[in-house]
Order: sequence, then structure tokens, then C-alpha cells
Amino acid sequence: MKTIHAIFQTSSLLLLLSLTSSSAGILPEKARTTLEAGNKRFAEGKAIAHGWQQGTVTKTGSLGQTPSVAVLTCADSRTPAELIFDMGVGDLFVCRNAGGFDTPEVNATFEYGVAALGVHTILVLGHTKCGAVTATLAGTPVPGNISLLTKALEPGIAKVRQEHKDLSKEDQLNHAVEALTRYQMLELLKNSALLQKAHAEGKLQIMGAVYDVETGKVRFLN
Ligand SMILES: [Zn+2]
Repeated sequence: MKTIHAIFQTSSLLLLLSLTSSSAGILPEKARTTLEAGNKRFAEGKAIAHGWQQGTVTKTGSLGQTPSVAVLTCADSRTPAELIFDMGVGDLFVCRNAGGFDTPEVNATFEYGVAALGVHTILVLGHTKCGAVTATLAGTPVPGNISLLTKALEPGIAKVRQEHKDLSKEDQLNHAVEALTRYQMLELLKNSALLQKAHAEGKLQIMGAVYDVETGKVRFLN
């Protein structure tokens, strides 16, 4: 089995190789507009990335991956990041769990993406009608290990329950999804000296967005 050191060395070499080729991936300043354009194609039924990708499979398989953008999103079956942004093999470095929240393992995964693969943008993508956020907002007991999810999501939405208690359940949920997205953007940095350093040095940007499961459209948060 390869040691992590060997993996890092190999990946760094591949990163160098990729930077000297003509297809070095998405530039940091183009990350948002590239994702927005991909989502527009997806939402308009004009997606182009998901036929059989012989060329990219062969290239990424032999040369390795150099994704520019990482995504933290929910395990919800309606939020497949590659489809939503019309991206192909080797384009996105994605972590998903119910609710889309930071854990030590998720954080380590993004650290690996930034340190070894060349990820320069992390997008935290919340979504409407999120079951995990709905359950957390309701605050009613949940069975088994599901309570681990609601416990993890609670700090990100606690204020919403207080500040928007007069709103309808649906409006509260929309506020909670956005609040949680912003909270997770901060958590990723708070929990990682490596990501903080990359961010401070201008090598990493963190964005937030909310995906509407009814329209297929992504709205970026400012
Ligand atoms: Zn969800």
C-alpha cells in the first residue's frame, strides 16, 4: 500500500505536470462563473458533461486527478454535485453526508484536496427541503445514530429557531439552510490550521450556495 507521503509526492508531481499542460483546470477567479455556467446548462436541459468520457477517464486515470474545486454538500439523492454543475470526471472533489457538515474526516479530506491535489476553491452547497435540516429544526427525538447528524447541525441553525420563530415552517427551513451553509463555511476554516493558512495566503477561497431541488438552480451567497 502507498504511504501517505508517497501519495503526496506523486500528487505533487502530477500537480506540477498539470500546471505545465494546457488544461490546468479552472482558474480561481473563474470558479464561480464556471460553476454558474454549468448549473445554467443543467437547469436548462443543456448539460454536456455526462456522456461516456473516454478521453478524460483515460487522461485522469493515467496522469492522476487535479481538481480545482471541492464541494461539501448533502447526501440527498437530489444534490449530485457533478450533475448540478455539469462537470465531468476529474473536475470536482466532493464530500457528502446528510446535512453537508464538517467533521474531522471531512476536514481532513479537504486538507488533502488543497495540500496535495491543487484545490483552490471549496464550495459549501446547501439545498432546499433538506431532510436533515428539517429534522434538526423540529428538534424532536430521532432514532439510532441519526441523532449524531442533528447534534452536528444544531449549532448552525439554533439562532434561526430563535430569530424566525414567527415564520412558517417552510420559511424557517429556508433560513436554516442558508444559515447552516454560512456556518459550515466558517467551520471548515475554524477546524483546520492548514485551510486557514491557505486561505490567509490567498491560495484558497470558500464559497457558499444553495441549490433549489425544485428548479435545479443554484443561488450563490455573497
Ligand atoms: Zn439535505
